[in-house]
Amino acid sequence: MTIVDVPAAGIAGGPALPQRRHLATAIPGPRSQELLARKAAAVAAGVGTTIPVAVVAAGGGVIVDADGNSIIDLGSGIAVTGVGNANPRVVEAVTAQLNAFTHTCFTVAPYDSYVDVAEALNRLTPGDHEKRSALFNSGAEAVENAVKIARHFTRKQAVVAFDHAYHGRTNLTMGLTAKNIPYKSGFGPFAPEVYRAPLSYPFRDGGLDGAEAAARAITQIEKQVGVENLAAIIIEPIQGEGGFIVPAQGFLPALVEWANANGVVFIADEVQTGFGRTGAWFASEHEGIVPDLIVTAKGIAGGLPLSAVTGRAEIMDSAMPGGLGGTYAGSPLACAAALATIESYEADGLIGRARELGDLLLGRLNGFRTDDARIGDVRGRGAMVAIELVDPATGAPDAALTGRVVAHAHANGVLLLTCGTYGNVIRFLPPLTISDELLNEALDVIREGLAQA
Ligand SMILES: *Cc1c(COP(=O)(O)O)cnc(C)c1O
Repeated sequence: MTIVDVPAAGIAGGPALPQRRHLATAIPGPRSQELLARKAAAVAAGVGTTIPVAVVAAGGGVIVDADGNSIIDLGSGIAVTGVGNANPRVVEAVTAQLNAFTHTCFTVAPYDSYVDVAEALNRLTPGDHEKRSALFNSGAEAVENAVKIARHFTRKQAVVAFDHAYHGRTNLTMGLTAKNIPYKSGFGPFAPEVYRAPLSYPFRDGGLDGAEAAARAITQIEKQVGVENLAAIIIEPIQGEGGFIVPAQGFLPALVEWANANGVVFIADEVQTGFGRTGAWFASEHEGIVPDLIVTAKGIAGGLPLSAVTGRAEIMDSAMPGGLGGTYAGSPLACAAALATIESYEADGLIGRARELGDLLLGRLNGFRTDDARIGDVRGRGAMVAIELVDPATGAPDAALTGRVVAHAHANGVLLLTCGTYGNVIRFLPPLTISDELLNEALDVIREGLAQA
C-alpha cells in the first residue's frame, strides 16, 4: 500500500489526511457496526447504505472511518466532492459566511453571493445568449423547477424523458425517472403528462447511429405526444444512475435541433455530468449543444446542498415574481461554497485533471477488458467512467458478478458505486483531487476482485 501525504498530483484540495489505503479492522469494524445497529433502529429502512462504515473524516482521495480504516473514495458522495472533501477554500469561505450570517431567505432579504453564483452560472454554461439563473437546494427540486418554467413559458404541459433516465425522488421527478425498483415501486400515483422516449444506448441498441436513434425518438414523440402539447424534453447528456450511457455522436444535437424548430424547451439535466466531472464544465460541450435550460447540482458547491436552473432569459423570466424560490433555496452558506468551488476548479486546473483521470481510467479498464470478456463495455468521459459486466456468451447483464466485485472492493478498502437499469454497471467517480497512485491502487483491487469473482 502506498503512503503519500497530501494528494500526489499537488492539488490544493483536501485536508492533510494521509493519502493511503489502510485497513485497521475488517469492514465494518466494531465502531462502524455500532453505528449501523443504531441506524437500523432509528433511521427509516428506505434510507440505504452503500458501504457499512461510520465516517469521521475525508479529503483528497480517501474516507476515514471510526475504526481507523482509510478507504479509497471512487464515489465522491455521488459526484459531489469533485474539489475534494473539506476542500480548504470551501471550508474557509463557508466559515467566514457562518460568522457573518446564516440565513435571511434570499426572496425576503437578498445578498451578494446568490447573485455572484447566478452570474458565474450564466457565464460558465454553454451559449452566449442572455441568461438568468435561479437557485434551489437539491437536484430534484431544480429539475421540478425547470419543468415548471418550461410549462409556464410554452403554455404547454407534456414533458418527455428518456429510457434509463434518473431525475430524482420527488413526485414529478420519480415520474421522469425510468427505473421501477427501488425508485418508484409503490410510491405512485405519478404526475400526469410525463412520456418516455427511447434513448441512444450504443452497447445495447443494435448499432443505431446518433441520427437514427434521434429519428426513432422523434417519431415516437411526434406520434404519441405531439409537439403542440409538448412543453419540454429533458435528458442527461450522459446518463448517470441509468448506467453512464454515452449516447451515439449526433443524437443530442439532432434532438436539440428538433426541439428548437418545434417550440419545445430542451432541458439538459447536468446534475451528475456538470461541474468539470466529464473534463469540460458541462457535458453538453462535448457535442457543442446549447440547451435552453440546464439543471445543475451535485458538484456545484463542494458538498453543500445547492442546485440551479440556468437558461435563456426569455424562458427563465416568464414565471411571475414569487413563482420561483424556496425558504432555503440559494442558502448563503451554499452560495459561499459554490463560489469557492468554482474558484478551486479554475485555480487548481481541476477540469484538466478530470481529463487526465479519464485517460488513466479508460486506459486501464480497456486493458482489463482485453483479457476479460465479462467486461462488455468500457465507456465515459473524463472522471465519469463505467464498466458494464455481462455474460460473455449472451451479453446478458450480470448483476451478480457486479455485486461480487463491489463486495470485494468494499472489503478491501475501496468505495465503489454501481448503477444501471440492470444493476450491472460499476461507475468510477473519483474526487478530482485523488492521486494517480491511489487511483491505480484502487484499480488493482478491482482487477483482483474480477479475478476472484
Ligand atoms: C442525483 C441526480 C438528480 C437528483 O439530485 P438530488 O440532489 O439527489 O435531488 C437529478 N438528476 C440527475 C442526473 C442526478 O444524477
